Amino acid sequence: MSMSDAPQSIDLLIEAAHVVPVEPHAVVLDDHALAVHEGRIVAVLPIPEARRRFAASETVSRPHSAVLPGLVNAHTHNPMTLLRGIADDLPLKVWLQEHIWPIEGAVISPVFVADGITLAMAEMLRGGTTCVNENYFFPDVQAAVYKQHGFRARVGLPVIDFPTAWAGSDDEYFDKAGAVHDQWRDDPLIAMAFAPHAPYTVSDANFERIRMLADQLDLPVHLHLHETAQEVEQSQQQYGQRPIARLDRLGLVNDRLIAVHMTQLTEGEIHLCAERGVSVVHCPESNLKLASGFCPACALERAGVNIAIGTDGVASNNDLDMFGETRTAAILAKAVAQDAAAFDAFTALRAATLGGAKAIGFDHLVGSIEAGKQADLVCVDLSPIETQPLHHVVSQLVYATGRHQVGDVWIAGQRKLRERELVGFDLDAIGANARQWRARISSIRPQS
Ligand SMILES: [Zn+2]
Repeated sequence: MSMSDAPQSIDLLIEAAHVVPVEPHAVVLDDHALAVHEGRIVAVLPIPEARRRFAASETVSRPHSAVLPGLVNAHTHNPMTLLRGIADDLPLKVWLQEHIWPIEGAVISPVFVADGITLAMAEMLRGGTTCVNENYFFPDVQAAVYKQHGFRARVGLPVIDFPTAWAGSDDEYFDKAGAVHDQWRDDPLIAMAFAPHAPYTVSDANFERIRMLADQLDLPVHLHLHETAQEVEQSQQQYGQRPIARLDRLGLVNDRLIAVHMTQLTEGEIHLCAERGVSVVHCPESNLKLASGFCPACALERAGVNIAIGTDGVASNNDLDMFGETRTAAILAKAVAQDAAAFDAFTALRAATLGGAKAIGFDHLVGSIEAGKQADLVCVDLSPIETQPLHHVVSQLVYATGRHQVGDVWIAGQRKLRERELVGFDLDAIGANARQWRARISSIRPQS
């Protein structure tokens, strides 16, 4: 274009000290701007050039911030945010069967799901998370609540072998899954996945139905897998196979599979995942807190497996802090690999953004800052002393930044956080509602 061309009208120009696009890998662009129009990134370019080329309705100038793609929390149970801290310091089986399931049995309802997700969204946005892979009951309610706040989500259609408040029989789980999927087909923000709970709670017959429908409807399959050694042993006793081998027999080990946890893996299983294009969601803090084991994130990454990062539910974490989770993932990967060079800062940030987007089939939309992608963006203020001096932007983001440094957040070009103030949320009301749930839940808890 020549200098005489009229500037192009756009909705938003974000000017920042640093832009971390994630793709291309290991790049930091200094003094760059992002042009955003109709929810999409139009261009990424040096600030002086951006000012010549574009006339923006709104310009946001952040001379001390880094802009990065919105973080993707690739495994959550966000209604469980209302159960934060309710049963800590217990082994997974006791935690789940004697505490979480009985409490959930008494409180699960559409209102519980909606209130938990609203609380979680407020927490996530204040920490730079713009997209979740959700796994809980009442997917119809989840989808509606995420949509209401303009939050991007892949919502799980639950399948579990016993009756719950959501469905009373196998057929009802599948009938409702089909209906919810139909209702949200082609939505720009919300999409569905099958979410069979785990190998130990889903029969071969139900896994076969899932495989058939996932192929037919082109949906991912979001599954807790090889979470503990006990799960693997139990499968060997019951089926004569490790869970991954059983799923392979059932035709589910493929590029639709979002395998969560994966703490118990053989060399052969790592290579099978790489060959078949399985994505692995690493949830290090949940695995550490429940003493489930260690995901060999570095070995998986080096074998070519796509790695994403998830917090898991707040009841086993106990927060939705993707900055903290990414730091834990990076340093734990090094310890497990016994190699300090493993899983470097760029790799960790990639897992928290594009890796998550790829795992859930959203990488054509989000996960990196590239022209044409959706404007799901996060500004992080790096001026506080906690991230000074700024020798290396991505090192600070992964190893030193706290989520309170997130200043601004957009999803599809819509402002969700403005200089730490949430847009479209009433924080006082959310807090008051959480306190009401505390009173309700404590009144029905089994007394020990
Ligand atoms: Zn989970």
